[in-house]
Amino acid sequence: MAQRVLVTGGAGLIGTNLCRRLLDDGQQVICLDSFFCGRRENIEDMLGNPRFELIRHDVVQPILLEVDHIYNLACPASPVHYQFNPVKTVKTSVLGTIHMLGLTKRVRGRMLQASTSEVYGDPAVHPQKEEYWGNVNPIGTRSCYDEGKRVAETLCFDYHRQNQVDVRVVRIFNTYGPHMMRDDGRVVSNFIVQALQGEDITVYGDGSQTRSFCYVDDTVDALVRMMEQTDTPGPVNVGNPVENTIRELAELVIELTGTRSRIVERPLPDDDPVRRRPDITRAQKSLGWQPSVSLRDGLMETISYFQKLL
Ligand code: NAD
Ligand code: UDP
Repeated sequence: MAQRVLVTGGAGLIGTNLCRRLLDDGQQVICLDSFFCGRRENIEDMLGNPRFELIRHDVVQPILLEVDHIYNLACPASPVHYQFNPVKTVKTSVLGTIHMLGLTKRVRGRMLQASTSEVYGDPAVHPQKEEYWGNVNPIGTRSCYDEGKRVAETLCFDYHRQNQVDVRVVRIFNTYGPHMMRDDGRVVSNFIVQALQGEDITVYGDGSQTRSFCYVDDTVDALVRMMEQTDTPGPVNVGNPVENTIRELAELVIELTGTRSRIVERPLPDDDPVRRRPDITRAQKSLGWQPSVSLRDGLMETISYFQKLL
């Protein structure tokens, strides 16, 4: 039978792609978003579907709904957006997660929390396993996001222990793909938009810092598998174990777009993690999941999305 599924942050990158996947799976989808950084255009194609509903709402305020499953994705994910109003970012993670856990408790449903590799901070252990407790600056400019997400995890496990709320926690590593905002500020959208417009490609620092990039369809598949399984509440790392430097990413975008853009170096933001790569052994065992889309193929899809958009 079709389930009633709430996706908070449903107009963002992962939310948009998740809503489409859930509709394809035959579910009834409620997309909730404040449009802080998500866009209505992202979900317009779904508005005519009788199994799709849109609610404009800020998760900092409580809401009563009848649903079975909740994917709690509401939170700006780009450093540019989450640092724009850091106090609001903390409220979104803390109050938003309390409200969604309270709702899950009331309806006796299940909630998946979109946590992040940022709970590991600038990791001193490499690659990152779920057992690692992280290396987070609690007072820096990234902490509104990192610490907010850490408290959100704490809330999930406390509601689970104290009130038997059925929770699932995934720690998502850098995800990219169609429906990223062109002005989002994250590295993949920045580089592709710059390349397509013939502008300089802005590498922060010397570009030797690393990230592991996961295509959004793979991330969405992991989220759905995590929600459906009953083996573990998590946390489970979701990401691509292939690690690249930011300079390698810039060079690949230049090759794939055929642009004449040049690479320029810009100052490195505060507390920018030096290395990041998930250990996905737990996801492989508990979810039977690993990414299937290579960076090259995923970037080609994303480039053609932005080519149509621009
Ligand atoms: P995104 O920024 O593209 O989308 C987030 C969405 O949440 C936007 O549509 C925004 O308008 C909405 N939102 C923000 N604050 C809200 C509020 N107070 N109430 C209601 N809606 C609100 O982000 P994304 O890449 O789709 O990420 C989704 C989730 O996954 C986030 O929680 C993010 O922290 C987490 N995550 C993403 C990545 C990644 O690389 N994409 C990595 C780790 C974790
Ligand atoms: N970055 C960059 N140029 C940009 C945007 C980002 O070199 O135009 C770098 C950034 O400093 C970081 C990496 O790319 O080292 C990933 O940045 P992003 O904001 O996408 O995600 P996060 O830092 O949260 O992993």
